[in-house]
Amino acid sequence: MSPIVAIAFLVFGLAFGSFLNVCISRIPNDLSIVAPRSYCPLCRSPISWRDNVPLLSWILLRGHCRACGQRISLRYPLVELLTGLLFVACYASFGVSGMTCKGCVLCFLLVGLIFMDAETGLLPAEFTYPGIALGLLFAWLVPGQSTGARLLLNAFGQHQAPSPTLLSVFDSVMAAACSAGFFFLAWALYFLVRKRDGLGFGDIALMAMVGAFLGLKMTAIVVFLASVSATVHALGMLAIRSRDESGDESEPDSFLSLPIPFGVFLGGSAIVALFMGDAIWRWYLGFFR
Ligand SMILES: [Zn+2]
Repeated sequence: MSPIVAIAFLVFGLAFGSFLNVCISRIPNDLSIVAPRSYCPLCRSPISWRDNVPLLSWILLRGHCRACGQRISLRYPLVELLTGLLFVACYASFGVSGMTCKGCVLCFLLVGLIFMDAETGLLPAEFTYPGIALGLLFAWLVPGQSTGARLLLNAFGQHQAPSPTLLSVFDSVMAAACSAGFFFLAWALYFLVRKRDGLGFGDIALMAMVGAFLGLKMTAIVVFLASVSATVHALGMLAIRSRDESGDESEPDSFLSLPIPFGVFLGGSAIVALFMGDAIWRWYLGFFR
């Protein structure tokens, strides 16, 4: 791993993170991401280029707008830094390859969707639908291991393996369809029982996107990780709420008691699976030896 290339990936990621901040602020509100130029969300005065350098400007201005002096959300430097570090992680994990490009695109989309869902509860189709198309495209351009598809074909007596490209696209399409179908069934069941939405259609589209990018094997890991982490979070919230009601502690609005949308868990799990999916899979298979 060359330090110069790593720094280049970091700078590249910071710039894309800066663009993501514009998307996160504007797309859920149906505003254009092209015009007008960057402006302070609080006082609407335009931001000059020197106050718009990713990460550095926020640090130099100590998180305050130069024009109105009000606090600028910590989300701005956080998204930039996170995108930068994930781009470096893609380079560290996959070198300079097609897989690195695929990983960076997936991380870009996921960070955007995670923060949009956390802030507004929305997973905009402007990100998920092109994301599904890009996932299928990358399956064709950068064929993966396609372990899931191979197992599936074997199970149906199809032992003659098709070309790696065809297998990879099949794996991607199956993962997108199965995970979206799985979440649609979960949504329908919840709706039938409780007569209200448990998941949004945004979650279903996000799952199809993750499936298209990661294929059957990794998508199974994502569904598992997201379900476990969301359940742990829900139980933690219940515990905090019951403690608050019993009156032992006087902090009803503690940070941990805020509900986190499910898309945050799905997106986070997909990032974990991208980098650690194979290690998790080996750990899981270790139980059957
Ligand atoms: Zn301002």
